[in-house]
Amino acid sequence: MKDYYKILGLSKEASIDDIKMSYKKLAMKYHPDRNPNDPKSEEKFKDIKEAYEFLTNKNASKNNIGSMNVNNMNFSDFSNSESSLDDIFNVIFQKNFKKNNRSCYLLDIDLECAVYGCFLNLKIPYQGTCNFCFGKGYKPESDLKICNKCYGSGLYTVMQGIFNFKQKCSKCEGKGYISTESCIKCEGSGKLHKFNNKFIEIKKNTENNTSICLNLDNKDSENNNFYIIIKIKPHSIYFRKDLNNNDLYMDFYIDFIKIMLGGFLKIPTLYGFVVHKIDKCFKNFKNYKVGNFGLNFNKRFGNLYLNIFIDILSELNFYSWFLLNKLKISIEHNNYNLLFNFNKKINAFNDLVFKL
Ligand SMILES: [Zn+2]
Ligand SMILES: [Zn+2]
Repeated sequence: MKDYYKILGLSKEASIDDIKMSYKKLAMKYHPDRNPNDPKSEEKFKDIKEAYEFLTNKNASKNNIGSMNVNNMNFSDFSNSESSLDDIFNVIFQKNFKKNNRSCYLLDIDLECAVYGCFLNLKIPYQGTCNFCFGKGYKPESDLKICNKCYGSGLYTVMQGIFNFKQKCSKCEGKGYISTESCIKCEGSGKLHKFNNKFIEIKKNTENNTSICLNLDNKDSENNNFYIIIKIKPHSIYFRKDLNNNDLYMDFYIDFIKIMLGGFLKIPTLYGFVVHKIDKCFKNFKNYKVGNFGLNFNKRFGNLYLNIFIDILSELNFYSWFLLNKLKISIEHNNYNLLFNFNKKINAFNDLVFKL
């Protein structure tokens, strides 16, 4: 069996994110479009694709969200789908609509791309002239017949009462001739779906819904100007509650011993790790603030807020169990604030109900 990890230049411990990153890098390098007439690259490209498909299926159930390494983040990882070739050229145009008479495309990007800025290679779809029939719609060598509706004039006369109107012949679409064989590539339309690769720059701190005006120079297309509207994808770690401010939120876990004894929190922010000291008997679980580590869109700094959860041991060995028992004995009953208050309320309730 092939060593799929080796093909992607990875060790066996590689996470699914490592696999994706490595695949994208290698696939860009060896893609046939970039290496025309090079059978070795093509072979290599196929291997890379096979390795990627195999390893991502195998790893599909692994969850690597917690293993984020801010220092090694690949900010050019801009696509959201899995393995298609389009993915490498990252065209994630969702919708095509009109704004100020220009076509608009929505482009999904990762939060990291929006914050740090990046260059994207977009594969932009357009309707271009068919290269096989040069837009004529019929096979170059096929026979042409004079249109039997307009007799070659391309115009058809319509009589309405005493008036005559000339209009474009509907049978030959004004060409005056009909081909015996339509072009097989464009099926007679003279147009083909084509793609144009274009590098665009996403600037640092690009806010959601920013539009980028793009002009292409396709000589065989009428529609060369359009907008790309940036849509920031949901992030696996950070989320926004209110799009009107730049605050970010994330879930954060602290072990129960650190909650009691105090210590240092290593907090992953979009800009690297920051370390915060917490006091013993920590209680500030909701919206713990990490100042100015939110987003910086429109030159307004937001904060990062942690929603803190207490992590408890998943199992106990004998020694831990023994120590915890000693700890339990050493702590007085009413040292638990929440339990103490709760028990007081329950007792008062019992007094009221059962002593009547
Ligand atoms: Zn054609
Ligand atoms: Zn005609």
